[in-house]
Amino acid sequence: MSAITEQNNLGDLLKYEAPNRYSRDVATIAAGQNLPLGTVLGRNASDGKHYAIDPAATDGTESAIGVLANAIDATNADRSDAILIARHAIVAKTALVWPIALTGAQRISYEQQLAERGVLVRESATLGGNLANGSPIGDSMPLLIALGGELVLESGKGMRRLSVDSFYTGYRQSRLEKGEVIRSVSIPLHAHSFFRALKLSKRQDDDISIACLAIGISLENNHVKDVRIGVGGMAATPARAVQTEAVLKGKPWSQATINEACGILEAEFSPISDMRGSADYRKKAIAGLLQRFWLESQEQAEVA
Ligand SMILES: Cc1cc2nc3c(=O)[nH]c(=O)nc-3n(C[C@H](O)[C@H](O)[C@H](O)COP(=O)(O)OP(=O)(O)OC[C@H]3O[C@@H](n4cnc5c(N)ncnc54)[C@H](O)[C@@H]3O)c2cc1C
Repeated sequence: MSAITEQNNLGDLLKYEAPNRYSRDVATIAAGQNLPLGTVLGRNASDGKHYAIDPAATDGTESAIGVLANAIDATNADRSDAILIARHAIVAKTALVWPIALTGAQRISYEQQLAERGVLVRESATLGGNLANGSPIGDSMPLLIALGGELVLESGKGMRRLSVDSFYTGYRQSRLEKGEVIRSVSIPLHAHSFFRALKLSKRQDDDISIACLAIGISLENNHVKDVRIGVGGMAATPARAVQTEAVLKGKPWSQATINEACGILEAEFSPISDMRGSADYRKKAIAGLLQRFWLESQEQAEVA
């Protein structure tokens, strides 16, 4: 079977540029090269044309001067329609294209050269960034709360651990101290009977939550032995639904229990109304997601 691989596009590469195309230059790619978007470029001092950087060169192309923002096939002739991200921009590390044999140290040095031109190379869409960003509608937090995740925080003073559900203190506020970073996330092993992370958003793809419910339960003799619930979009921070958990614990895993828990879940939070949904809609939606979890657990139970 043949496979088609989607190539990176400009959005994958360019995370920020200055207004009025100030970050961009038009560049000439010298003949004999077929360069993908994201190639780190140098300029030959004698002909003024652009080439993929070459650490072994001595003609100017050993220095990084920017990043190619469009794929250019100059195999047969020079192409003068290349777009070079040359200054004051942020590019995603994962979208950069380097010479194959480049060492780690050379890469760091090239990133520094780009930074000196104001082209910052950054990790993008990382778990640490999503957590530190602290959005109440971020995707990873309800999931990690339901999984009982712990953050390992590190600074010059050493390391400490904090549970994800105790990390947030207010809207985009957290217990992260100055100089501290999220080093890793640790998730205990679970033997859930059922686990789901359910996200409601306006578009199916690439959209932030209106409301999000992550829930894991362990059943014993069809009674809820253990349950953890993380929610998003229901408060100023991602949150753990402790009251709903308490109502579920020890009860038979039944429609009647779910009906009771849905009522508690609706009442447990006071979400805001915004362009994504009203407070009332969010309350109904989060209860609807819990109902869906129950129904899906029944389908799974029938299959098992
Ligand atoms: C158009 C758009 C759509 C989006 N849709 C969604 C979505 O559907 N779901 C969702 O969850 N998010 C969504 N987001 C938010 C975005 O995905 C997050 O902000 C992103 O995950 C942040 O990750 P990053 O690695 O790029 O962080 P950065 O933007 O690099 O950093 C965010 C913040 O965290 C800090 N930081 C980064 N890493 C660490 C670390 N390890 N320790 C301590 N601090 C750190 C940075 O200093 C910065 O203050 C969307 C954003 C945009 C612009």
